[in-house]
Amino acid sequence: MVAGDAGVSVGRTRAYLGQCRVADVRRCRERFGGVTLQGLGGLKIARYLERAGDLDGVDLDPAVYRSRPAKVSNQLTLPGMDCAPFDWIMAQAELGLPVIRTAGTRIRAGRIDELKAELSQDYPVDVTVVLALDTGWLGRRHIDSLEEELRAADRDVSVLLAAPFNPVDSQRKIEALRRVLRWASDAGRTLELLRTDLTGLPAVFEGAAVAAIGFSTSTRHVGVPFAARQRDAFNRRRRSPLVFVPRLLHWQRANVLGNLAPWDGAGVTHCDCPVCTGSGRDLLRFDTPPEDSPVDEVREHDELALAGVIRQIMAAEDPAAELKFRRVNAVHRARSVASSLNVALDDPPAWLDSWE
Ligand SMILES: [Zn+2]
Repeated sequence: MVAGDAGVSVGRTRAYLGQCRVADVRRCRERFGGVTLQGLGGLKIARYLERAGDLDGVDLDPAVYRSRPAKVSNQLTLPGMDCAPFDWIMAQAELGLPVIRTAGTRIRAGRIDELKAELSQDYPVDVTVVLALDTGWLGRRHIDSLEEELRAADRDVSVLLAAPFNPVDSQRKIEALRRVLRWASDAGRTLELLRTDLTGLPAVFEGAAVAAIGFSTSTRHVGVPFAARQRDAFNRRRRSPLVFVPRLLHWQRANVLGNLAPWDGAGVTHCDCPVCTGSGRDLLRFDTPPEDSPVDEVREHDELALAGVIRQIMAAEDPAAELKFRRVNAVHRARSVASSLNVALDDPPAWLDSWE
């Protein structure tokens, strides 16, 4: 953590990558200052980078999230060998990673025994305990016990939140998350938010040491199965790509942004990132028929625009105040588009206007 101007320690943001290639890791590390890789695929890449002497700024989320130890993948064992539980701690220690995370377990809301068990396990080296918590832990019924167990365990933790969609989708859950952040801050414990979205941004000003932010819906929280009806709606919508909108500080579907075309984007779709500036066009260009979607260009824009926004906020004299200023503007902009132009954008995520 680094000391901010206000004397409050400010955590760091980094990129969280799911399935990816070595080139993605190197590119995102340069853009975001650090990368967290996921699971066995991530481990393979980390091992490759280590052999190349190029592992700086890279760490791992084992991402097992199961109540039993994961079996070893065939790719990592010799044929015919027993499939002993894979030792994630040793694998990370051998790489010399600066932070070693436990394999983690997805813990359903209210399963206090499972939470206790995870938090009380001993390891041969210093670790941060991965907790993949169902979002219900942030609800009224369970937040007290969560806080109590964290306090009793007094360990460094890496928290991931599991839900079908955005796990921090209400004022109440934001307040609960902030209680957890306050615990870490008061206890002097390291708390990481892994596999998160931009909710991680205000969190690093309030006690999170790290926020590892994903660029796709599947790397912004731990997904859990959802109902068939939700699945249908989800699949219909996902045909149009999600695009990060710097002026709204969140993602919108390209076809939804397209509704702003009669007003030339109404000031919402402007972007200063190098790929947009280079193209001489704004985000409306991404509203295309699904088969023509410029996937690579959307990805380039997403990474560059998001990295740019984070960099500008962190470089401000008072980063927390800068973030708040941008949040207020983003919410105001979205509301005025909805009311004066009668264009319905997707609702902004709760953190934007409920993190007070
Ligand atoms: Zn852009």
